[in-house]
Amino acid sequence: MQVCSTCEASTRCGLKDEGLFDLCPKIKTVEKTVKPEVKKEATAAVIDKEVLRRYFGYSEFRQLQQDIILDVLNGNDVLVLMPTGGGKSLCYQYPSLLLKGLTIVVSPLISLMKNQVDSLRSNGIAAEYINSSLKYEEIVKIKSSLLQNKVRLLYIAPERLTIPSFLSFLKGLKISLFAIDEAHCISEWGHDFRPEYRQLKIIGSSFPDVPIIALTATATTKVREDIINQLALKDCKKYVASFNRGNLVYHVRPKQEAFRQIVEFLRTKPRESGIIYCYSKKSVDSLAENLKHAGFRALPYHAGLSASVRSTNQEKFIKDDVEILVATIAFGMGIDKPNIRFVIHHDLPKNLEAYYQETGRAGRDGLRSDCVLFYSYGDRQKIEYFINQMANEKERQIAHNKLMDIINFCETNVCRRKLLLGYFGEDYTEEKCSGCDNCLMPKDEMEATGEILAILSCIEELDEKFGINYCIDVLTASKSSRILDNGHTSLRSYGAGKNLPKKIWHGFIRELLRRSYLMLEGEYPVLKLCQKSRDMLSGSGERVEKIFLVKPEVVEKPAIIEHASDDEGLFEALRTLRKTLADAENYPPYMVFNDASLKQMALRRPCTPEDFRKITGVGDKKLERYGAIFISEIRRFCERLNPTGQPLKKQSSEYVTLEMLNKDMDLDEITLKRNLSLNTVYGHIEKLILTGENINIEKFIKKEKIEVISCAILEIGGETLKPIKERLGDNFSYGEIRLVRAKMKATLAQPPPPDA
Ligand code: ADP
Ligand code: MG
Ligand code: ZN
Repeated sequence: MQVCSTCEASTRCGLKDEGLFDLCPKIKTVEKTVKPEVKKEATAAVIDKEVLRRYFGYSEFRQLQQDIILDVLNGNDVLVLMPTGGGKSLCYQYPSLLLKGLTIVVSPLISLMKNQVDSLRSNGIAAEYINSSLKYEEIVKIKSSLLQNKVRLLYIAPERLTIPSFLSFLKGLKISLFAIDEAHCISEWGHDFRPEYRQLKIIGSSFPDVPIIALTATATTKVREDIINQLALKDCKKYVASFNRGNLVYHVRPKQEAFRQIVEFLRTKPRESGIIYCYSKKSVDSLAENLKHAGFRALPYHAGLSASVRSTNQEKFIKDDVEILVATIAFGMGIDKPNIRFVIHHDLPKNLEAYYQETGRAGRDGLRSDCVLFYSYGDRQKIEYFINQMANEKERQIAHNKLMDIINFCETNVCRRKLLLGYFGEDYTEEKCSGCDNCLMPKDEMEATGEILAILSCIEELDEKFGINYCIDVLTASKSSRILDNGHTSLRSYGAGKNLPKKIWHGFIRELLRRSYLMLEGEYPVLKLCQKSRDMLSGSGERVEKIFLVKPEVVEKPAIIEHASDDEGLFEALRTLRKTLADAENYPPYMVFNDASLKQMALRRPCTPEDFRKITGVGDKKLERYGAIFISEIRRFCERLNPTGQPLKKQSSEYVTLEMLNKDMDLDEITLKRNLSLNTVYGHIEKLILTGENINIEKFIKKEKIEVISCAILEIGGETLKPIKERLGDNFSYGEIRLVRAKMKATLAQPPPPDA
């Protein structure tokens, strides 16, 4: 291969190859500094919130979106790094509506294109896709609308750009922007390298004046550089959003009776969608089966199933026909479902990258979602076993280090969010996040140096030849025949732990295994000491410092998450309506309206088109298409609630309170006017905050008090109110505590501030 002498190998090369490439970019930059045509468009472009509302139904931009869009409209090349669900699509979809020419979106997954295009069309945006799934005649038709400049966005797969006839067709169009989605696919350093993406170099050489926006959710510094070089982005502006997924709540639980824990968790999430990841196909099948027996709608997904079964199961999941997909990590890449409310890891993921990515599939719509990981020493051993089989020494070491990182994540008693973001190089400055189990429910710890020493001495005395149960039997002075036969009643450790029940000793030993004081070895696993514990026994280790162990709760409470809305069933009714409409059009339900929109409808109960269009996600097209039918459902619901023949109760009681607050009435006025108790009104405000209304609580509670209450909640955990009230005393009311707690939760569920 001939390489252009003016540019380095890393930038796009100026080989004149069959007219597809033209001059070297080093020469061309001079010409490119002025982009007359694009510049002209830019001066005319102003960000217009009305466009945002009309076509997308949103009232505000999310972090960075507005800056990125302005840059794109100004004709700059832009690189966008934003986590999944951050709102990358809007960064090119919005400009496409203002630019004169066509926006071409390159996307790797043919399976997603149709969905994305359908979703744009449902908002009244002219979008098309061209890929191998279309018939010749369909493509001809699309090309003809493209020639008439009737299309705003065209989605294609990267390989299409290498077809010379298609390329020359594009050259005959007015193209204003290229958007490269999943841009990390261009880099071999990324986790999802796709050779076809390398062909995208052709954009720079064939369309030198057209700006490019590259977007990805995963990119290390190396991958970033690679994207910029491969696409030859010029004076490229980089936007890096925080990778904190504020609406995800992280939990790690000991893997004991995992099935029962999962069932209890699922019962708190009726009709909600979620993924449960398992390590092996076998466990996927059996867990899916067991869940079905327990009465849940669950389907399996793994590489061992035929392609048709896999795609049917995926389709059912996307269409909300089943709530739960039990899957190996083979599942997830090709789906864009926004209302995944939980991701459960039944088994330990192999590293934190995988964990971040898999949990990242939850909560794309920005609503609170839970990530639960079950962790046991046995899982750790399983992965260690596979790592030890790796032939390459260096790879083995890397894999091992990564395993240690995720184990550390599981075992830590500090904020998990902080640790996770820290792993990816982001400094999370809050001490506590109030969105992980460690911050929400700090564990009881006890000083346990004596207990640890008892366990370690016992194992030592047993010559490291016995398993967990035997060791505990010795400690608790069991009179089993095995112990009598072995003469172990005469050991010094015999009966040393009589004062505590067996299950507590089990908990301690598991904790010591997790913390690498102990390990299990052999076919009939026996307890072995590790360096840390030998040091401790010999007195050179941590003995002088106190050692704290988490007080073993034998089986913890399930991670019950209380639900914000008590909308008397309206949400459910709207969800059912959505499903019916979606099925009729063969759409996934979220394409009609997402959960955030339905939640707001259930709370605000809009009964006129005017009110309905104020709901998030309701643009003009959706108002026209679905407004009447949703409004009539809401009315019917309100009438049913109001059988006395009184005038139609248009709004929920909370919403009436909201309107009064918006009129700047204070709490006394509201209670008086509505003849409600202060507590009830506090309850309303709490609910309003939790459903996303932006209410400034500083209007009712002094700043200093808020501060004190927040600290107490962070310290004690916010699951129940009573301990907080007891700590704070009579100067603080339950109502005040509830508002501050709601505000903390709601802030957590919102995207981070722009400069985070
Ligand atoms: P990404 O591609 O970064 O994963 P998407 O572009 O698919 O994210 O957007 C994720 C979700 O956020 C979508 O459901 C989208 O409708 C929603 N969204 C994007 N921008 C906004 C906004 N400004 N206001 C409200 N919702 C938004
Ligand atoms: Mg996307
Ligand atoms: Zn935390």
